[in-house]
Amino acid sequence: MQPAQKPNPEALPRLLLIDDDEVLRRTLVRYFAPTFDITAVPSAEAAIEALPKGAFDVVLSDVHLQGMSGVEFLKRLREHDLDLPVILMSGEPGLEAAISAVEYGAMRYMLKPFDLGELRNALVRAVSIRRLAVARRESLELIGHDAQAAGDRAGLIALVENAIRSLRVAWQPVVSWSRRRVVAWEALMRSKITNPDALIDSALTVGRIVELGRAMRDAVAAAGELAPPGDLHVNLHPQELLDDALYDSSTRLSRLASRVVLEITERSSLEKIPAVRDRVARLRKLGFRLALDDMGAGYAGLASFALLEPDAVKLDIALVRDVHKSPTRRRLISSLLAACKDLKCACVAEGVELPAERDTLADIGCDLFQGYLFARPDFAFPDAKF
Ligand code: C2E
Ligand code: CA
Ligand code: CA
Repeated sequence: MQPAQKPNPEALPRLLLIDDDEVLRRTLVRYFAPTFDITAVPSAEAAIEALPKGAFDVVLSDVHLQGMSGVEFLKRLREHDLDLPVILMSGEPGLEAAISAVEYGAMRYMLKPFDLGELRNALVRAVSIRRLAVARRESLELIGHDAQAAGDRAGLIALVENAIRSLRVAWQPVVSWSRRRVVAWEALMRSKITNPDALIDSALTVGRIVELGRAMRDAVAAAGELAPPGDLHVNLHPQELLDDALYDSSTRLSRLASRVVLEITERSSLEKIPAVRDRVARLRKLGFRLALDDMGAGYAGLASFALLEPDAVKLDIALVRDVHKSPTRRRLISSLLAACKDLKCACVAEGVELPAERDTLADIGCDLFQGYLFARPDFAFPDAKF
C-alpha cells in the first residue's frame, strides 16, 4: 500500500472527478475550475489509473459507474489511499446504495440535481478533513503507533486483502527446560501491513476471518513441511471452527495433523460457536491435538476447558510476567500446574523473558517454556538459547 500523498497547501486542492455523463462533467469542470485543480475522467478504470499519479485531495464520483459499482471503486481506491475523501453523486434516491456507499467510506452522498454551491462547500470541507486525517496519521507514526488502521470499511477490506497477499509465518520455539531441547514451534502470523492482533480484529470486522485463517493455515503447512522436528502449534480463531475447509482431510495442514496442535484462545467465548464439541471431535478424528491459549487472561477459562478438553494449556504472558516477584502468581500457577497434571494436560508458560522467571517456574514444576529468553519469533526457525 502506498502512503497517503500530502496535499500541497500552496496549490489549489486537486479534485478527481468521475462521471460518464459528458455534459455534466463539463459543467462541473467549468464551475469548479476556480476552486480546484481538476482531473476529469469518464470511468472508474480511468480513475484507478489516474490515482497513483494525481496526489488528489478529494474525489467526486457518480455512484453508477460503468463496469464497476461505486462501492467496488471505493474498495479499489482504499488500496491506494486510506484517507482520500470521496463524495458520491447519484441520479436515483436508492436508499440501499446510499447506505452501503457511506458504510464503505463515502463521506457524503449527493442526489442529482444538486445545488452546485452546496456541492462546492462539501468538497472544500472534505479537503480540510483530508488534511486533518493525513496530519493525524503522521502524528501517529511519529509517536510510534500503528497508523495503518483504516478509517472505514473499504479501507479495512483493502488492508485485510493486502495483508492476506503478503502473509508470512514467523516461528517461535517451545522448549523443554529439563531436556534443554525444542519440543514444538508456534506459528505466528506476520504481514507487511499490521500486527496480527490488529489484522485479526480488522478481518473480524469485515467478515474475512475465514479467508485470513485459510491463508495462514496454507502458509503454515507449506513452511511446516520443512520444519525441524517438533510439534507445530497453529493459532485458530474460534470463528475458524465454522469453516468447513478446516475439517477437510485433504488439505496440506490436515496431512500434517499428527504434528499439529491447534491453539484456541480463551479470550473470546467458545460457547457462541454452535456444536463446538462436535467440531472439536471431528478435528481430533483428523489427528489434530488442541491447546487452550492465553489461560489466565480470559473469563471463559473453565467453560472453554470443559468444551475443548485440551491436550495442552498455555499460561498467558500477563500471568508469567514477574512471577519471581509475586507470591500470588507463583501460588496461582502452582495450582494450575497441579490441575493440569491431574487432567493429563501439558502446560506451557508463555512470554518468559528473564532467567529469574524461568527459574521460579522451573522450581514449581513447570518445564515447558516459550519466550524471548529462548528465542524471538523468526521466519527461519530460530535456534533456542539455553
Ligand atoms: P499468542 O498466541 O498468545 O502468541 C504469543 C505472542 O507473544 C506473540 O505475539 C509472540 O511474538 C509474543 N511473545 C513471545 N514471547 C514473548 C516474550 O517473551 N515477551 C513478550 N512480550 N511477548 C512474547 P504476536 O506474534 O504479536 O501475536 C499476537 C497474537 O496474535 C497471538 O498471541 C495470537 O493471539 C494472535 N495470532 C498470531 N498469529 C495468529 C494466527 O495465525 N492465527 C490467529 N487466529 N491468531 C494469531
Ligand atoms: Ca498462541
Ligand atoms: Ca498466548
